Order: sequence, then structure tokens, then C-alpha cells
Amino acid sequence: METKQFKAESKRLLDMMIHSIYTHKEIFLRELISNASDAIDKLYFKSLTDDQVGLSKDDFAIWIAADKDSRTIKITDNGIGMTEEELENNLGTIANSGSFKFKNENKLEEDNQIIGQFGVGFYSAFMIAKKVTVITKAYGSDKAYKWESEGVDGYTITEADKQSVGTEIILELLDDTDDENYSEFLDQYRIKGLVKKYSDYIRFPVKMEVTHSKPKEQSEEDKAAGKAPEYEDFIEIETLNSMVPLWKKSKSELTEDDYKHFYVEKFIDYNEPLKYAHVKNEGMPEYNALLYIPSKAPFDFYTREYEKGLQLYSNGVLIMDKCPDLLPDYFSFVKGLVDSEDLSLNISREMLQHDRQLKVIAKSIEKTISSELKKLLKNEREKYEQFWKAFGLQLKYGIYSDYGMHKDKLVDLLMFTSSKEHKLVTLDEYVSAMPESQKYIYYATGESVERIEQLPQTELVKDNGFEILYLTDNVDEFAIRTLMNYKEKEFKSVSADDLGLDTPEKKEELKAKEEESSDMLKTLADALDGKVAKVTLSQRLKSHPVCLTSEGEISLEMEKVLNSMPNDQKIHAQRVLELNPDHEIFGKLKSLSDAGDSDKLGKYAKLLYDQALLIEGMSIEDPVEFSNLICELM
Ligand code: ADP
Repeated sequence: METKQFKAESKRLLDMMIHSIYTHKEIFLRELISNASDAIDKLYFKSLTDDQVGLSKDDFAIWIAADKDSRTIKITDNGIGMTEEELENNLGTIANSGSFKFKNENKLEEDNQIIGQFGVGFYSAFMIAKKVTVITKAYGSDKAYKWESEGVDGYTITEADKQSVGTEIILELLDDTDDENYSEFLDQYRIKGLVKKYSDYIRFPVKMEVTHSKPKEQSEEDKAAGKAPEYEDFIEIETLNSMVPLWKKSKSELTEDDYKHFYVEKFIDYNEPLKYAHVKNEGMPEYNALLYIPSKAPFDFYTREYEKGLQLYSNGVLIMDKCPDLLPDYFSFVKGLVDSEDLSLNISREMLQHDRQLKVIAKSIEKTISSELKKLLKNEREKYEQFWKAFGLQLKYGIYSDYGMHKDKLVDLLMFTSSKEHKLVTLDEYVSAMPESQKYIYYATGESVERIEQLPQTELVKDNGFEILYLTDNVDEFAIRTLMNYKEKEFKSVSADDLGLDTPEKKEELKAKEEESSDMLKTLADALDGKVAKVTLSQRLKSHPVCLTSEGEISLEMEKVLNSMPNDQKIHAQRVLELNPDHEIFGKLKSLSDAGDSDKLGKYAKLLYDQALLIEGMSIEDPVEFSNLICELM
């Protein structure tokens, strides 16, 4: 018997399979079932026009049988089978199958990724088998053939004895090692699990004889004596796959519960989803999708470990568990799947990234998510707010990321806590409620709503009856600055130089006062020795004597955020110490200044500056000095 050599690329693929990492090995079953299903598809198609086939739809099936004694798994189909020539061409070389394109040199890492995610076909059998035997009889042929191989050494083809049309694949499992337990693939529960996991939606039944045990019939005596019954085994033929994927069913067939149960089971989340969408796109590319918005953020959502992505199916066969290219980062919280007949099963990672169909699908999915979120906001406010609390941060990152490229798509989904009743409002709601006299969208930043409420800078704006957006997440101010304005209204920090609230007369008045006190202000600034860019009089303060603001691009809050990141250079906001000219303390300062007591004035400057820092929620440089100064001046 002549042993034939595999073609060069096939050899490489085989080598790759044999050295694949263990966690990927289980996909062999998916690959073989998928091949069997394709073969049945072909014969079924023939049977529609050719009576000679002699089989009707219900006769077609794939059988799995595992035998622990001989350590073999057998996968049988009654599909179209292969002629001798087809055996040679299909299993002797992978050139025909188109299943694999060699892009990079044999890099194990990358290879393993490919094995894990994509259809790698028949050869995956060698990941778990030391010997593979294929016995097949083609439709219309009166001869059957046997193909045998033990891997890289080559294969043989001989005539065989087989009555019915179809293919039988026998895998003789590799021996177990310390690290790898191949025997588990002989376990009926493991097999059932694998079929459920990867091949649940194969259109033809995948059947197996499953052994169950049941209690034996007991005698009345034993029953009366309360004896535990003996058990006996019995065999039942089970269909392991459900055959029709939920997403392929018509929407009218499905209940809300169906969708929710499916989610909970499939995406392993104890909480029901907040919202789902079932998309059936009939156009090009044709696809079905199920999209879910979880009600809670997974524990690792805001970490690097979190992987975004949707399951990707090609006509019911899972080809990738988390296809990241289907979701933009700002919608990374969405769970679900996409199934398209227009995608090839055997498509490699790199090819997928550049796949035009996939890009079109991704675009359309993004649109769906966006419109579903808008619907939720409009019709189910409470749920939207729940969503916002779980994933709002991600949308705000989205506004800020890629230089604001996506801001227009996301801006109407944003929410912030408002100074009015501390409710969440959208920017649209904020702007719609603005009185005529209000020019800006005001915001204040701080680590919590309670903290912001106490900021002296908010007093004047509130006194004018204007609403303030409270920004409490680090990313908030960066997002707001990226937006710059909303519906032609500019965003304005309550700490900004000019809040646009003063009349020209008032401004003049303040200017005059400032000129009058310019010596004093200079003495105060000098005493602070470069800690502030200047000391000014403030129009925004009412009950508080001082506050700290900033001029220029960087706000105090941004300074905090930027300096909390791991970078070498510390960034400083240009600080401005503002004094309340109507406060008692101001009179005190004035009299010290008039008396020429610049030493004491300097001490007041330091105290007031530290006070302002504390109100801002920032730490003071020298708490001991602060405490000593208080005692001294008391
Ligand atoms: P692919 O499935 O991508 O074509 P495979 O390596 O899995 O690549 O299979 C190669 C070819 O072998 C298939 O295209 C098919 O023609 C043939 N083949 C594999 N399994 C079967 C089967 N069970 N019945 C009939 N033909 C099969």
C-alpha cells in the first residue's frame, strides 16, 4: 500500500494543529460536524430534484458515538460522500478547501489565535487524534474508500466496504499526558456540552446514544422496608442540538422571556438585560442579530481585561466568540451575536478585519444600538437612567476619544446631574429649560455632588436662578471641553473668569474697587510666593470670603485628574485667588493694609489660600503651618 505525502501547506497546517494549545482543541468537533452538515446540505439539495436519492429531509442526520474501550470517537453523516478523487483532493491537500491562507511565518501565538477563532477544517481532528480514518461512499458511486492517516507522515487510500452513501470519520484519541486529558472527549456529557456550545444551530439533528440510569422496579417488600432502589442503565437516542437558532425564528414566534432567558444563559449574566433588539436585515449583506444592553456593568468592565465583541456566526455556525470589529469602543457594553450567510466560515483574523461585508454590518449595528438607546431614553426614562449609571462613563470616554470624532453621534445620549433637585438631565433638557437671559450652559466640577454644592463658585449662578450641571467623573470636564458647545450654547465653568452675569456697570464698579486695593492685592499675591498667578476681587462670591479659580486652558479639576495619571511631568493650573469684597474679612484685610502691616497681611494670605484649597477638595501643602497660623491669629 502506497503512503502518500501531504502537500507542503497541508503539512504546515497539520504541524500547527498538533502543536496547538489545549484550550482550542475542543473545536475539532465543531469542524467535523460543520463538514458533515455541509455534505448533508449537498445531498439534501439534490434530493429536492432527484428521486434517486431516496431520502427525505427527516432522514438526514449526523451521528456521534464515543467508545471508551477503543478510545475512539466516530462522526457519521449521510451526506453526499466523497469519491476516491475527492478524497485525494480534499483531504490530501488543503489548497482546495480555501480554508487557510498562510500570511505569516509559523508564529505559534498567532496560529493559536487563528485556531481558536476560525474554522480550520478537517485537519483540526489531529489536535486530539493520533489516527484519523475516513470511510466514505459518494452519491452515485458503487465503491467506497478508506482514507487513513497518522499525521505528518502521510496518508493511504484503499477500497472499503460501506453500504450507504455518506461519510464516517473515526478518531483514535491521543494518549493522555500530565497536562492534557484527551479522554474527556469520550465523556457523553462533554460531547453534549460541545455540541450545545458550538453546533446547537446546525440545521440537521446531531444524534447520540446517551446512557441514563433509572431505579429498578422494587418488590413490595423492599419498598415497605424502605430499601434504596438499585439502578440500571438504559440507552436513549438524543438529539443534542436545537437546530433552529433563536435569532432565525420570526419575531412573532418569540416572547420577551425567550429573549431574556437566551441572554441569561448565553452570556452568563444573572441579571436580565435592560433592553434587547432582534435585527433581521434582508438587504446586502443579509444578517440576523440579537443585541442586548446589560443592566449592570460586568465587574471588569472598566478594566483592561474586559473584551468587547459580539459572537459571530456564519449561517448558524459559530466562527468567533467575541468579534471586536462589530462594536465601537463607546458601545463596548453591548452583548449579542451576528449571523450572516454572506460571511465565509473559513475566514482568518486579518481577512475578517478587512472584510467589507463585516464593516457594513458593523456600521448598521452601530446605528441600531444608537437608535435603541435613544428610544430607551425617550420611552423608558427610569431604565435609561439605570443604563446611564452603569455605562454612561463609557459614552463620555467616547465623546473625548479620537479627538472628538464621535461626539455628534453620542452627545444626545449624555446625562449629567443638575443642580435642580439633583436629577439627571440631558443637554437638550437643560438647554430647553434655560431662561432667555441665560447665555451659557454652566457646569461645576468636583468629586461628588455634595462637594460641588459647597463650592462658593456656584452661589452666584444659582442666585441668578440658573441650573448648573454637576460633573463628578474625571472624564467629564474633558468631554465637555471636547464638545465646546451644545445647540449654539457655550459651556461655561462656574470658575471661569467671566460668567457673563455682570452688567457693564457692575463690572466697572468691581474694576474701580480693584484699582483702589491694588497695593493690597499685590502684597497678598507676593506673600503667596508664586502659588497663585494673581489675587483678584470676585463678583461671584456671596457668603464665602474666598475661592480658588483658574485662568487658561487647565482647570483645577483637570489638574487633579492629569496629575493622578502616571506621567512624569506635573501639570499646574494657573491659580487665581478670588476675594469677596463684601465679606467682613475683606474689611479686616483692608485695615491691615492701611496700617501697613504687611507681615500680618501675608499670614492672612496664606490662611485664606489654604482655606480655598480645602473648599476645592485639594490638600494643603503644610498643615502644621496652617494650624499654627490659625492659633496665632485667633
Ligand atoms: P472546508 O470545510 O473549509 O472546505 P475542510 O478541510 O474541513 O475544509 O474539508 C475539505 C473538504 O473535504 C470539504 O470542502 C469537503 O469537500 C470535504 N469533506 C470534508 N468532510 C466531509 C464530509 N463529512 N462529507 C463529505 N465531504 C467532506
